[in-house]
Parts: sequence; C-alpha cells; structure tokens
Amino acid sequence: MINKEKLEETKNKLEEKKESIIGELKNFAWENKSIKDNFETKFPQLGSHQDENAIEVSDYENQLSVEHSLEDDLKKINKALEKIKDGTYGVCEKCGGEINPERLEAFPEAVECMKCNK
Ligand SMILES: [Zn+2]
Repeated sequence: MINKEKLEETKNKLEEKKESIIGELKNFAWENKSIKDNFETKFPQLGSHQDENAIEVSDYENQLSVEHSLEDDLKKINKALEKIKDGTYGVCEKCGGEINPERLEAFPEAVECMKCNK
C-alpha cells in the first residue's frame, strides 16, 4: 500500500502536471466550459494569401493532434486524482491488483497495472 506521505507527494505531482498541460493547451486552444476538460483548438484566421493559408491550416492540424493527446493526459490525471480522493489510488482498474510502485513513480497517472495496460 502507498503511505499517506507518498500519496500527498503524488497528488502534488499530478496537480503540477495538470497545471502545465492546461497552460500548454491555453497557448493555442480555448477552454470549452460546457464540457469538462475539453479544449478546442482555435481555427486560424485565414488571410487572402493562398500560401500562408496552407501553412496555417497545417499548423492547425498539428495543434489539433497535440490538443487531443494533451486532453487525453488531462483526463488520465483527473482520474488518478479522483482515485486519490476515493482512496483507490494504486489499485488496478481492471484486475484490482496493486500497481507496481515503480510504475506509479514513473507514471503517476497510471490506473492500470503493467499487465492490464497491454
Ligand atoms: Zn491489472
């Protein structure tokens, strides 16, 4: 089992990660308040130059995929934070087994053990 101190440390780590992800998202996306943890990439203002538009659209597409992966991370982090609150952190969601502490050290947002994550 994870002791309280470790749990508190993990919680702080997760909160920090969460803040930095939200900060990153806010650089290019706006927060959609009607859906929890959902961000929308701002669509570029298209100008009259065809060449410039092509660059902007491809930037937009790149940002969109970054947005989705950051959102994914955000969801995982929130889930882990909820588990800390519930007292179920460190327990695999799928098999109910204990998640290896080393794995939690490396991926504090992990909610599945190594076996189930495959
Ligand atoms: Zn498992």
